[in-house]
Amino acid sequence: MLAPLIVTVAPCIPPYAALHLPKLDLSPDMIAQEVIDAHAAGASIAHLHVWDHDGQPTGDLGAFHRTIARIREGCDIIIEGSTGGVGDLTAAERCVSLHADIEMASLNVGSVNYDQGVYVNSPDDVRFWASEMARRHIKPDIAVFEVGMIQNALRLADEGLLKPPYLFSFVLGQTGALPATPKNLLFLAESVPDGAVWGAAGHGGADLPMSSLAMMIGGHARAGFEDNPYYAPKRAATSNAELVRRLVRIAGELGRPVATPAQARGMLGLADRQANSRG
Ligand code: ZN
Repeated sequence: MLAPLIVTVAPCIPPYAALHLPKLDLSPDMIAQEVIDAHAAGASIAHLHVWDHDGQPTGDLGAFHRTIARIREGCDIIIEGSTGGVGDLTAAERCVSLHADIEMASLNVGSVNYDQGVYVNSPDDVRFWASEMARRHIKPDIAVFEVGMIQNALRLADEGLLKPPYLFSFVLGQTGALPATPKNLLFLAESVPDGAVWGAAGHGGADLPMSSLAMMIGGHARAGFEDNPYYAPKRAATSNAELVRRLVRIAGELGRPVATPAQARGMLGLADRQANSRG
C-alpha cells in the first residue's frame, strides 16, 4: 500500500519560457489564485519563486509577502520558497525567500550544467543555505539533478544540518543534466535512504511521464507552468490547476489517494499550522 500522493504545484514560469505564450497575468494576486485553484484540484505543496509584481525575479519580498498572504487566506497549502537562481546573486540573496512565511524551501546541493551555462551551488553556499533553513525550522526540499548530489545531501545529514524524513526532488530532463528516462528515475529512487520521501519533476516536456512513473512506484508528483506550461504539444495549459487535475485523475485510476496538506505535513514532519496558530 503506497503512501498518499503529494502533488506539488510550481506556477512560477521562468521569464524566458513565458515569452512564447500569450501574455500571462503574473501579479501576486493571480499567482495566489492559481495556487488556490491548484489546491482545490488536489495540490498540497506550492513551490514559489520570489517575484516582483510582473513576474520577474527580484530580491524584494514585497510582492512575495502579498502572494503568500493571499494564499494563506484562501487555503492551507504548504508553501515552499525557491532558493535557486543563476547569475551573480550572492548566497544570501539567493535565499531571501527564507525571510518570508514559508514552511519549506528548495535546497540545491550541487552544481550542474544548465543549457549553455553552469548552475553553481558550491559546497560552502549549500552549507550556508542548509544552516539557515535549520535555524529557521524550514524544511529543505533537496533538489537532485545528478545522482552524486544525493551523497552531498547525506553528508549534510551527517553534520546534523538535515533531519529525517529527508525529502528529495529529482529534477530530470534539464539540458546539461540527467535525461528524463524511466531508468534514471528508478536509479535515483533506489539511491535514497530507506524512509526518505521523494518526488519527480520532469523538464523539457517530461513532466507528465516522470510524475506518472513516480506515482506508480511510491514517489510524489509535480506539475505547473514552471516545469511545462503546455498541456499537450502546441496546446498551452489553461491553468496550473488543469495540470494538477490530470495528475490527480491518473492517481485515482491507479488507486493512489491524494494527500491533503495536513496529511502531507504529517508525512514530511512539518508542524501543524492550525495547532501552531492556536498555541
Ligand atoms: Zn523553481
